Amino acid sequence: MNPDTILRLRSLPIEGVAERLGLRVARHKSLCPFHDDHHASLTFNTRRNTYRCFACDAHGGTIDLVMNRLHKSFPDACRWLADASNIIVEEYNPLSPTLKNQNSQLTTQNSFDPSRYARHFEHPWLSDEARTFLFDERRLDPRVVRWCRLTSWTDRQGTHWLQTPFFDQDGKLIGIQNRNLDYKKQTKENLVPTNTSPSNPQSHITPLPTGERLFRGGAGGRALEASAVPRFRFPYGSRCTIYNLPVIAMLRPKEPLYITEGCSDCWAMLSSGHKAVAIPSATLLSKADKDLLSNLSDRLGTTFHMYPDRDAPGERLFMQLKEVLPSLEHHQLPPDCKDYSDYYTKPM
Ligand SMILES: [Zn+2]
Repeated sequence: MNPDTILRLRSLPIEGVAERLGLRVARHKSLCPFHDDHHASLTFNTRRNTYRCFACDAHGGTIDLVMNRLHKSFPDACRWLADASNIIVEEYNPLSPTLKNQNSQLTTQNSFDPSRYARHFEHPWLSDEARTFLFDERRLDPRVVRWCRLTSWTDRQGTHWLQTPFFDQDGKLIGIQNRNLDYKKQTKENLVPTNTSPSNPQSHITPLPTGERLFRGGAGGRALEASAVPRFRFPYGSRCTIYNLPVIAMLRPKEPLYITEGCSDCWAMLSSGHKAVAIPSATLLSKADKDLLSNLSDRLGTTFHMYPDRDAPGERLFMQLKEVLPSLEHHQLPPDCKDYSDYYTKPM
């Protein structure tokens, strides 16, 4: 694995990583997940970016926290962190040492070069798999798909990918998200016998305890980890913090702006006729991104709205965004909908 990548994963904010793992961090402390803790013994050192438990002596950095909390190997923990934080981890079969030297600028490159990708989105093309996903499963408005310039490609292994470009306010390409369109089929098959199956109505009523979401699926979840192809992939160095920034240029004074958690909820929101952006994680928002949003309410009187996912991470994202955007309004999804795209695709 590329040392630059590992360095980047190690420097992700430790408290953000802890929150992604379902720990509730307050004043640089949380309950320790590694022993039966009732006193918030786990302390985060944000300067050294480490954690330590004063009761059981569990300690380490971001990658150790993921390895220990999720019982993952080092490479799996890196991949999980990268998937969770929009940073690419290279394929498991990295270039051989000789090739690495020859292509040194390829492996040490840490800035995203849009010119290499921009032409992909000039003439978007959708495969049958992408069409099925976007129009049959997600029921998206074709105008939204065109506006977002979604395109698709198939890699040499035959995996189908949907490619989502991230643009800045001026329409400059700043990042790309690749979504594995074959991944979902695996989840469906693997999750059928588990407690998320609709045949077990209890799973819809009982809210999952904090952190449980990551283990949802049990054996199915493990089968997924074993699969070689991740669900999302990002070109190295591409910046994917706020999605659909060009919509900001079209906002009229006092017009509502909806905030969603991921691209697919954003597409569903746009297809329902609302202007929307997506923010995958509040802890990863840069100062510039926060300023951009809070300036909107000063400049245009924009009001912010959100339908948080019906789980603990969804509510946490709402609370974190509310600190940045005090006027953010909370809308409640119906009890049988886990997120906005679920709500949008449900037959009424
Ligand atoms: Zn402990």
